[in-house]
Amino acid sequence: MAKVLIPAALQPYAGGQDELIVDGANVREVLDALAQQHPELRRHLFTEAGVLRQFVNVYRGTEDTRALQGLDTPVSADDELSIVPSIAGGVGAPPRPASTLPAPVSVIDSSRVASTTLTNEEILRYSRHLMLPEVNLEGQKKLKAAKVLCIGAGGLGSPVALYLAAAGVGTLGIVDFDVVDVTNLQRQILHGASDVGRPKLVSARETLREINPHVNVIGFEEPFTSENAMEIARDFDIIIDGTDNFPTRYLTNDVCVLLGKPNVYGSIFRFEGQVSVFWAEHGPCYRCLYPEPPPPGMVPSCAEGGVLGVLPGIIGCLQANEAIKLILGAGNPLIGRLMLFHALKMQFRELRLQKDPDCPICGPNRTIHALIDYQEFCGVRGEEAQPPEVEESEEITVRELKARMDRGERLTIVDVREPYEYEIARIPGTILIPLGQIEARADELNPEAEIILHCRSGKRSADALNRLKARGFKRLKNLVGGILAWSEEIDPSVPKY
Ligand code: ZN
Repeated sequence: MAKVLIPAALQPYAGGQDELIVDGANVREVLDALAQQHPELRRHLFTEAGVLRQFVNVYRGTEDTRALQGLDTPVSADDELSIVPSIAGGVGAPPRPASTLPAPVSVIDSSRVASTTLTNEEILRYSRHLMLPEVNLEGQKKLKAAKVLCIGAGGLGSPVALYLAAAGVGTLGIVDFDVVDVTNLQRQILHGASDVGRPKLVSARETLREINPHVNVIGFEEPFTSENAMEIARDFDIIIDGTDNFPTRYLTNDVCVLLGKPNVYGSIFRFEGQVSVFWAEHGPCYRCLYPEPPPPGMVPSCAEGGVLGVLPGIIGCLQANEAIKLILGAGNPLIGRLMLFHALKMQFRELRLQKDPDCPICGPNRTIHALIDYQEFCGVRGEEAQPPEVEESEEITVRELKARMDRGERLTIVDVREPYEYEIARIPGTILIPLGQIEARADELNPEAEIILHCRSGKRSADALNRLKARGFKRLKNLVGGILAWSEEIDPSVPKY
């Protein structure tokens, strides 16, 4: 028997609970029992062949069970098992003894410090740093000599860039080709209301110049891809992972491993965040932790799952802190350690990371020697990039739906969004069955009747349509464009979100 901590990403499949007491003498038995209790969890934990998915790590206390006896790792009643998927969280754990913390390491060598000078104005500006023995004039020169590349100028990139600029990092590269959207302003504090519609890079550059005109901001207004990533990253000392998708995250990792640079990693989901420093020369890389990405759609993005606005602020500040430590060569870096943060519980939890001897990119028998196609690797192409296939005869437009409603037809309209979305906006007369429950609750629907399915934009409802079709439903229709189209074309009083 053991207590199993369920991360936010998996809680919807575990009855909404964040911890469960489960029977079993080892990890395999516990996970099996868990999947028995909550059948929807099974496909998230195991492949169809019954093998534990590679993007799911199971920790007993602070130890990765892969470094113990894997699925055979024994479990006693006092043990706490944490399931740590690619985005995850947990609760408190005993602190790590100081003797086992990684040693300080700096990315700036002394010759670069020797050729760097500070003006009197800079000395005044950074005086609160210069008073710290761990920074002092030498450290401030290291900061000025340092070149840090931030992938993304969004939720994580905002605090990272703001604090690194304020701290006096001499060269700040930013890769972002996005435009500021009004929904960004809840957390992306590099940008303001007057920046909506402008490129994030333009807005970031202006904000950073205002904070510290001594910083050289280099913008790369293009997607970070296998074609340009090595060229962009080559001249920088540290890479900050401020990405929000798996293809770019694996690309960032692989670029860092191939170029021998530290990757200051951060990720966020709802109320939970992760931080680490992946540096293959000194410890594990991201692929050691997660050899494979989750299948598309299994872990929702911030746009689908939501995120507390302050969370990227906290995680991004921790990333900035790690970057500054790596520049100064001060303190114990987060190398070989994964910090999990839970904002609602206000708890930090540290897990130890092992270098995977079979890692495909940083192990001795590595199989990856150059950048690959990350869209393909993450299965994005053909799945996430394109919505699930729906035949044209299975589609209905908002105008057709409205016309039929106006004729007084009795229609079964199923809204497959989440309850919180239903609270924000709804089409009158709909039944709410979230996508995750559509199969379990299919018997609430008449398989002979015509059923119109809708969601926010039409993607999840297309998925629901295919799932119901597989269960023998024959007269299904997907509402094209979802409630967004309804708001756009039928009823502008329905808020968009
Ligand atoms: Zn590795």
